[in-house]
Amino acid sequence: MQHVVVIGAGQAGASCVAKLRNGGFEGKITLIGAEPCPPYQRPPLSKGYLLGDMTLERLFLRPEAFYADQGIALKTDCRVTAIDPEARVLSTTEGEVAYDELVLATGSLPRRLPAAIGGDLDGVFTVRDLADVDAMAPRFVKGAKVLIVGGGYIGLEAAAVAAKLGLEVTLVEMADRILQRVAAPETSDYFRALHEGHGVTLREGVGLERLLGEGHVTGARLSDGTEIAADFVITGVGIEPDITLAKAAGIEIDNGIKVDARGRTSVPGIWAAGDCTSFPYRGGRIRLESVPNAIDQAEVVAENILGAGKDYIAKPWFWSDQYDVKLQIAGLNAGYDRVVSRLGDGSASFWYYLGDTLLAVDAANDPRGYMVGKRLIEAGKSPDPALVADPDTDLKALLE
Ligand code: FAD
Repeated sequence: MQHVVVIGAGQAGASCVAKLRNGGFEGKITLIGAEPCPPYQRPPLSKGYLLGDMTLERLFLRPEAFYADQGIALKTDCRVTAIDPEARVLSTTEGEVAYDELVLATGSLPRRLPAAIGGDLDGVFTVRDLADVDAMAPRFVKGAKVLIVGGGYIGLEAAAVAAKLGLEVTLVEMADRILQRVAAPETSDYFRALHEGHGVTLREGVGLERLLGEGHVTGARLSDGTEIAADFVITGVGIEPDITLAKAAGIEIDNGIKVDARGRTSVPGIWAAGDCTSFPYRGGRIRLESVPNAIDQAEVVAENILGAGKDYIAKPWFWSDQYDVKLQIAGLNAGYDRVVSRLGDGSASFWYYLGDTLLAVDAANDPRGYMVGKRLIEAGKSPDPALVADPDTDLKALLE
């Protein structure tokens, strides 16, 4: 009987095993995860779960019984330590596991601040997994001082939760503006105003020189010489694809585990999906850190293991929740040369163009702008920017 083993019981791993069964695979399926619980959604970790609005059970992607019901052997709290691609055998913390087809869905690892600048002090947290959030949650008490290092989406979402719960929040961003890596100045301005309106102190264009404290963090010194007191620190300074196992097994790496459009790695019998991969996209190669990508790519891999011979064509989209604002992002803005703003009553959307070509849309509390933008981008259509900017334009008409 064929045995498919999936390493990484996260979003991609869970989607892959479910799709395999759903697609009629009758062999053995094993899903191996290093974390102690069934696969869960990560987005609420910096949103509803951190806020205390969401229970642990609601985080789980499927009830635990699902896996047994589907004949999927779920091994939690089990780490794969090596792959022998010749013998098709894995070494794990619970012994060896043989496979016929292997899927790597190992996700990402958060960047950590070096110990040399205080990154190893107690009270310094990353936001990647449930254990991180469960460890920091008790510190979220009214009046506590939190320093957030990094003004990307994760840092801003954590700042929003902290401000909502009455903490004193300072966020430090080394770049000139928050969201610089991922968004236009217009989007940064929108979120700066939102956070400042909720009392968050934003320090942009200032680096972290070092964290201060003996044993436990007590504050930070910034690159401009100022010192900030903090009861705890959250870092959101980016992630790296988790290529540890793949690299050691001799699998080709290129800004992540390199896969082709079908999800195959450079080694026969080994596939990969989700955050850990880089894959072909519009003549180049990209890596995406998002739930929709993890699900869609993992499902295509499952179908291809079953012989579909299907290419994965990413349709990038993403979201972020901060206070009462839902940001939805369609497309990828890389290479844009202008941004068209569409401002409504309580909503705003920012449309990225390269010449006359629409690349992406950031839509804040503007589900229609998002939906229309996404459909236009996927259809390769680019509306006249003047029409987009005009608040009287019926966006839906642009789809016709
Ligand atoms: P993961 O979900 O990270 O799963 C990988 C799993 O593999 C982990 O459980 C890991 O422990 C396990 N693993 C790794 N190595 C081994 C090994 N050797 N042995 C066994 N197990 C191993 N995306 C969005 O689209 N929208 C959002 O709003 C959003 N918000 C986010 C908020 C936070 C706080 C975080 C952390 C992420 C957020 N993301 C969001 C990103 C999204 O969660 C990821 O893109 C998605 O989880 C990727 O799925 P994955 O399966 O590739 O990796």
